[in-house]
Amino acid sequence: MIPAPKRNYKLTILITLTLILVNNTLTKTSYAANTDMKKLFCIIPIGDIDKRIIEHTQTELEKRFNVSVDIGRQLDEPIYAYHKHKKQYNSTKILKKIHKLSLTGYDRILGIVDVDLYVPERTFVFGGADVKKKVSVISLTRLRQKFYDLPDDSTLFKYRTIIEAVHELGHTYGLYHCKDNRCVMFLSNTIGDTDHKGAEFCSNCENTLEEKKTSQNKNK
Ligand SMILES: [Zn+2]
Ligand SMILES: [Zn+2]
Repeated sequence: MIPAPKRNYKLTILITLTLILVNNTLTKTSYAANTDMKKLFCIIPIGDIDKRIIEHTQTELEKRFNVSVDIGRQLDEPIYAYHKHKKQYNSTKILKKIHKLSLTGYDRILGIVDVDLYVPERTFVFGGADVKKKVSVISLTRLRQKFYDLPDDSTLFKYRTIIEAVHELGHTYGLYHCKDNRCVMFLSNTIGDTDHKGAEFCSNCENTLEEKKTSQNKNK
């Protein structure tokens, strides 16, 4: 009889469609669950950077942002960003270079360099960030006491690194500069400003950060 196989054929199509639908629902469910998983940051060493400072930054950022932090492959010294008259490196060019790596699977990227940075509008910067691309960079050069002809202080150096890293990552969440000089989002014009503000967000910035985190999770 011919009609029987036809019915079977229809049944097969129906089962297949049902399976596809069920599968889609399962995929969506696991995707939704993924948004509750820990976010992933990546630290990119640019040029030779002391491994201890990278690992210290990794540990501190994991605690402070409640994320997992990977350490990426080291990039070459940023000669493409060098300005021969200023004898400094353009931080915007470094941010573009990091973005061009097109690292997937990371929410935010932090480059660490040990060269003096500038942007055309300022004589120097401690770091920089691109809010849209969620890429940031900090320089270690002006965080050492040695830069100011003072005796080395490794504890202070490590703490300053965290302050600047938290500040630039704060920008990647859409936070602006804060007027409170005890807030990490205060704009440092001098290393004294950095030491004075510390690595904590003021309550306003903390609230804004939490709001941004929530809305960015929803938009994912
Ligand atoms: Zn800033
Ligand atoms: Zn603040």
